[in-house]
Amino acid sequence: KQKELEEASHLPAVTTDGRKVKVCANVGSVEDVKNMLKFSPDGIGLFRSEFLYMENTHFPTEEEQFEAYKEAAVLCGKEVIIRTLDIGGDKELSYYDFEAEENPFLGFRAIRISLELVDVFKAQLRALLRASAFGDVRIMYPMIISMEELTRANEILEICKKELAAEGKAFNENIKVGMMIETPASVIQAEEFAKHVDFFSIGTNDLTQYMLVVDRGNKKISKLYDTFHPAVLKCIKRVIDAGHAQNIEVGMCGEFAADDKGTGLLLGMGLDEFSVSAGSIPEVKDKIRKSSYNEAKAVADRIGDAYTIDEVMKLL
Ligand code: PEP
Ligand code: MG
Repeated sequence: KQKELEEASHLPAVTTDGRKVKVCANVGSVEDVKNMLKFSPDGIGLFRSEFLYMENTHFPTEEEQFEAYKEAAVLCGKEVIIRTLDIGGDKELSYYDFEAEENPFLGFRAIRISLELVDVFKAQLRALLRASAFGDVRIMYPMIISMEELTRANEILEICKKELAAEGKAFNENIKVGMMIETPASVIQAEEFAKHVDFFSIGTNDLTQYMLVVDRGNKKISKLYDTFHPAVLKCIKRVIDAGHAQNIEVGMCGEFAADDKGTGLLLGMGLDEFSVSAGSIPEVKDKIRKSSYNEAKAVADRIGDAYTIDEVMKLL
């Protein structure tokens, strides 16, 4: 069965009634990029850049990063969404002294670090821009909570573009820039954010944690951690609608995109891109190819009436 699924994985993800979506891969290293190819993803929906920083004794240089991003882009040959550094929380670096925090997941992490360590951020953005001369590299910011953060990040990106242009280095001037939607604040303001980015990618791992105030790694309360909570599902729907109102693509790179029951629901909500770990691609594609978009939509349209996880499950 698995072998059959894998063989069918090169077929496009089109529903029985003709809606085509993308099924992309989540990767965490250049090695992962090589391994995903046999599953024929439509691209990379999330390249976690953390490994470059964590498997190192210093902040990786622009050159080191450029080589890695370029290799990923060339190997993949399709769109490659690379997320800027998402360190902090529980992810530490041996060579940088993060002060101890009482609530690391509510603390100094991700884009907050990039906007403070501007030289570190610039090295990454310059590397990403230079790699964009070799493939469809796209930039994605993590953990955005405010318009100010997005504006500031884009200002720094513009500075990097000017520098590279002055140095005569090649890059794609129209590189696509998107953001993760994984904080409640970004959901509530998605309508506005959608006017200022080229795409959204919903990070359900963190969004579930922050919406429900449930630590995603705490076993004691893991029963409460449930993306099928109607509040989380309503966030997802809102973000998809907000993106589509501005004609931007909305993807999902959180684990929920590969959830067996989640896939149909997300399809019905209108999600454009499912980014999942490589091993899940055959199954997600198969599920989509066997689904009717119109039937899935009819179910998804009723989620607004659900107020308990039980009611959601009954609908599904
Ligand atoms: C997410 O939060 O859903 C996500 C994809 O990012 P990470 O798991 O790396 O925090
Ligand atoms: Mg996250």
